Amino acid sequence: MKAIRVREFGDANVMKMEDVSDLTPSAGQVVVQVKAAGINPVDTYIRSGVYPSKPELPYTPGMDAAGIVASVGEGVSRLKPGDRVYVAGSLSGTYAEQALCTESQVHPLADGVSFEQGAGVYVPYATAYRALWMLARMRPGETLLVHGASGGVGIAAIQFAKSSGVRVIGTAGTEKGKQLAAEQGADHVVDHNQDGYLDEIRALTDGKGPNIILEMLSNVNLQNDLEILAQRGRIVVIGCRGDVQINPRLIMGKEAQINGMVLMLSTEQELSVAHCALVAGLESGVLRPVVGQTFPLADAAQAHEAVLKPGAYGKIVLQTD
Ligand code: NAP
Repeated sequence: MKAIRVREFGDANVMKMEDVSDLTPSAGQVVVQVKAAGINPVDTYIRSGVYPSKPELPYTPGMDAAGIVASVGEGVSRLKPGDRVYVAGSLSGTYAEQALCTESQVHPLADGVSFEQGAGVYVPYATAYRALWMLARMRPGETLLVHGASGGVGIAAIQFAKSSGVRVIGTAGTEKGKQLAAEQGADHVVDHNQDGYLDEIRALTDGKGPNIILEMLSNVNLQNDLEILAQRGRIVVIGCRGDVQINPRLIMGKEAQINGMVLMLSTEQELSVAHCALVAGLESGVLRPVVGQTFPLADAAQAHEAVLKPGAYGKIVLQTD
């Protein structure tokens, strides 16, 4: 089978397509024939060698994928060959024609959801779920600011919040991104590249501020978030690409909470709870990943360059055929 392999950390061009052996499941394992693999920003941090936990070289990148179960090992009871599934992490990497997974990493993909959409489920939706329910403890009637609503996590957050009676203000940096966030259900969308957008958010909340902020670029926005947050508001720091200076007095005066989160630090039990919500949301149609761009598997390098460019529009996905 074909797989993208990384033999040294570096720029996107260190990813090369290679022929590798087909995979065979051991007991408790599943081999998925990958139809589409999702690109996440974290894949680029890992590939470049700057991420705190590094895989052993050589490795195949990717945590997200969707496809069909090809074979199952002894003792696997939940899945059988032919099942449509999405993959939530794997033992072998997902930028490949096959992925070797534990049974708990493989989940049913509802019939109405394409493989490309399925490749955009795990990291974005489990992150949004964990941020909104497990950390911010979102409640119906509250106002949520999705600071970075045009990308994978932002769209997932809009869909979860709107299906739960929460008012959503989204931000994006392009007209196309703003339109996408509005189509996905955001009640108001503002442009985080325009001067004065924070005043717009204040005005939209009658000066009170959002109860919850999901923050995709905390190194740019954390101080501003503290300034506009409501009393007893909660910020979840999801994305960070550098340092920021903040005034802790704002945390005190608002009795605010700043929660950091890393999806990969979730426990097995937390993941299992999140997947129950994801599978149900895909089945009911409340959750629908948006795929903005697709690339052939061989063009993983271009996909990595694209995911870091401004102007997000849903997910970027690799197709295996
Ligand atoms: P993505 O699809 O590339 O989307 C990036 C989002 O950030 C877009 O909405 C983009 O908007 C927005 N953005 C750009 N400049 C911004 C600014 N100045 N203020 C606010 N938002 C801004 O990425 P993603 O998958 O949604 O992930 C978002 C971030 O969370 C990434 O940094 C990723 O690494 C991180 N993440 C962390 C975890 C975790 O476990 N902590 C899990 C998943 C993702 P425009 O392009 O429209 O400007």
